[in-house]
Amino acid sequence: MEATENTVAKNLTLDAFTAETVEAVYSGRPGCMCGCRGNYRYASKRAALASERRGYEVDVSDAQITRVIKTLRAAPAGSLEFGERYVAAKINGRVYVAYLPK
Ligand SMILES: [Zn+2]
Repeated sequence: MEATENTVAKNLTLDAFTAETVEAVYSGRPGCMCGCRGNYRYASKRAALASERRGYEVDVSDAQITRVIKTLRAAPAGSLEFGERYVAAKINGRVYVAYLPK
């Protein structure tokens, strides 16, 4: 049976988020997620497509991708929040999110 988008979301675990699979990460203070309180960084291998899709040049940092994944992995399991294609956590007053590609 083919997994639907929803099945995938329901079964999403931290294992799905690696330096290989994550497209972008966010790190910032809680509140608005537009980027005014933090920043988005993209994996270098996905930056070209992401820039094209968004219509502007996205910021690239493979190091930040790795850093945020590491931070999320160190977070208490109960603090992780999974969405359709992301995992988020608030740690020490800061919000961290890792996004998988659409
Ligand atoms: Zn904002």
